[in-house]
Amino acid sequence: MKEEDKSKPAGSLNFLEQIITKDLEEGNTQGRVHTRFPPEPNGYLHIGHAKSICLNFGLAIKYNGKCNLRFDDTNPTKESLEYVNSIKKDIRWLGFDWEEREYYASDYFEQLYEMAVSLIKKGRAYVCEMSGEEIAAGRGTPSTPGRISPWRDRPVEESLDIFERMRNGEFPDGSKVLRAKIDMASPNMHMRDPVMYRIMHAKHHRTDDNWCIYPMYDWAHGQSDYIENITHSICTLEFEVHRPLYDWFLDNLDVAGTRPRQFEFARLNLNYTVMSKRKLLELVEGGYVNGWDDPRMPTISGLRRRGYTPAAIRAFSDKVGVAKRENVIDMALLEHCIREDLNKNAERLLCVLDPVKLIIDNYPEGQTEELEAIRNPERPEEGHRMVPFSKTLYIERNDFMEDPPKKFFRLSPGKEVRLKYAYIIKCENVVKDENGGIREIHCTYDPETKSGKNTRKVKGTLHWVSADHAVEAEVRLYDRLFDVEDPTDVPEGGDFKDNMNPASLQTASGLIEPSVNGSAPGERYQFERTGYFCIDPDSSDEKLVFNRTASLRDSWAKMNKK
Ligand code: ATP
Ligand code: MG
Repeated sequence: MKEEDKSKPAGSLNFLEQIITKDLEEGNTQGRVHTRFPPEPNGYLHIGHAKSICLNFGLAIKYNGKCNLRFDDTNPTKESLEYVNSIKKDIRWLGFDWEEREYYASDYFEQLYEMAVSLIKKGRAYVCEMSGEEIAAGRGTPSTPGRISPWRDRPVEESLDIFERMRNGEFPDGSKVLRAKIDMASPNMHMRDPVMYRIMHAKHHRTDDNWCIYPMYDWAHGQSDYIENITHSICTLEFEVHRPLYDWFLDNLDVAGTRPRQFEFARLNLNYTVMSKRKLLELVEGGYVNGWDDPRMPTISGLRRRGYTPAAIRAFSDKVGVAKRENVIDMALLEHCIREDLNKNAERLLCVLDPVKLIIDNYPEGQTEELEAIRNPERPEEGHRMVPFSKTLYIERNDFMEDPPKKFFRLSPGKEVRLKYAYIIKCENVVKDENGGIREIHCTYDPETKSGKNTRKVKGTLHWVSADHAVEAEVRLYDRLFDVEDPTDVPEGGDFKDNMNPASLQTASGLIEPSVNGSAPGERYQFERTGYFCIDPDSSDEKLVFNRTASLRDSWAKMNKK
């Protein structure tokens, strides 16, 4: 992470760093920085969560503090162990460590219950027997006060008794709630006697059926921060209006020591995708994608399978920065970050995705030459690989044109190109099939032009593979999942899924130079002139499967300019 810090001019701190620096200078937090990442285990993490992870863990690293992982598991009907495990895996993969501090809001259910009892005793909370609909209907509007609950002034003893019986399972779901007694006329709707507990007879993945009342987010969250000694509770902007409630709860509990404070930053929004867990779940459950880790998903597991590196995601998070106002980041920035990483770090391979046969008429039948090819021009120290060359090759179909326009520097009749790492060849004639399609391109080569020698130059250089040596692979050509910038912008009655890109997955049968043999799932390569690819876990001994991580250049930018 040191690398990334360098990209900011020294002394330029984002607003959270400024707050923390000041707190440390003024001794507001006893010299401590303690943050937390609080996911609800109701889905897989996405790139927005990655931003929050990099921020919370990053601040702890930068200020010699700590960052907890806390599962906000207060809604048992939507949560599961599968999600818990995927979240842990993703955070570790991103390169962050919560050490032994793996916590669960459910660990605090007893403490939270006791705290709620203390609020009832102070007359600051009461059991309300209005239904959920009645409470919602009675909330009022920001300019008109809400309806006062008929139960608001019931005796403390009565609330205490019923609250205990709620816990003991005496009442059905939805029949009663515990509410904070604040202000039904507050212009802040969150302060209008918010619900603290609801009855839900549901099994919890950790507490099983020990509880049938569950705390609401606003009640559980701040108190969990307090229990964990969090100093800076960082969340996204939509919680700004919840902050008075966050503070009210702490004000009204007799808390000792440093109180956590909440700070809000703008959530990460990306174009050409969706990031709400509800929508992502819909894509998964409806079979619109092949699971949470489908390489087209903006999930961390999807990006991993697509071939993204943790370093690229961390660099992206850093480049996005920390904003105080909502904005939308261009997907091209994320793609730029992975290209930058893979350009530096991925070995090169020759792969032909749409092959057409090319025969070198003057090359000896049966001869094979091993040609030297650099593994990675960005890292010459990694040395060379050997690529076999022979009489019969494949090149990319669109690298040949029988009747080319003026500036076509690839292959056409009578013209010369260089075959990368090999020779200059000249197209002599073509053989067509019955439909007029090109079946074979016949060329001659100039033996004096072997690559590496000081020879004459030609304008075009093509990639190729030797027909007898190439390894076949299934290549999954992924593209953006949606073909509009804001998929949620739909007309009345429309659906965000109407904006899905029908060409987001196309499959090709690629031919790859044999040095690919022995590669394992997860390994990443640049297919020269084509893009960045990685080996999918679907690969087996019989069949290699590659995913396209990114094209070599930003093809969307060009398209949008048209
Ligand atoms: P969703 O609204 O899609 O269900 P969520 O925000 O409810 O997501 P949580 O599991 O509660 O999901 O999020 C855990 C943490 O990640 C929270 O602190 C939340 O603010 C943060 N987070 C979620 N989405 C983003 C985002 N797009 N950008 C930055 N932080 C995010
Ligand atoms: Mg949330």
